[in-house]
Amino acid sequence: MVEVSVRVKEYRGTPLKSKDIKEGLVPVIWDRPEAKYAWATGIAMGRFLEELKEGRIIGRRCRRCGRVLVPPRMFCEWCFRPTDEWVYVADTGTVLTYSVSYLGPAAERLKEPIVIAVIQLDGASPGMGILHKLGEVKPEEVKIGMRVKAVWKPPEEREGSITDIKYFKPLEGR
Ligand SMILES: [Zn+2]
Repeated sequence: MVEVSVRVKEYRGTPLKSKDIKEGLVPVIWDRPEAKYAWATGIAMGRFLEELKEGRIIGRRCRRCGRVLVPPRMFCEWCFRPTDEWVYVADTGTVLTYSVSYLGPAAERLKEPIVIAVIQLDGASPGMGILHKLGEVKPEEVKIGMRVKAVWKPPEEREGSITDIKYFKPLEGR
């Protein structure tokens, strides 16, 4: 038991300061909870991530409107009906739009900027883009309409995540 004497000027009682906790002036229990969490990816995203682990990109086709949705969805919001079949798309595509960012994923300031792009993969329907990083290219060289190809992690490092693709790089002979 530690006795604390604090001069209270405005309020009755003894307000706690973080210093009191740090210096152990009040009873403190430190604990590191082992918080674990999990959530279901769903049918479409689950299959998409599993295929990434195998180095493939998969979408869903709606037979009514003919669109190939990438990332896949089990429901076509145009036709208001379930999509019909799985379809593989290429790991090459076209930059629809991009942004040069001096902020990293944790909002940290970057000296060398990263280029984030929306990429329409070959085989996906027009306007259907996935968001990813560009690499092996200077920001000032990036153009809308530029052809790019996925650079994959080695198979043993893939874990069923969009980061199994490290980045997209310009296609040769662009
Ligand atoms: Zn449709």
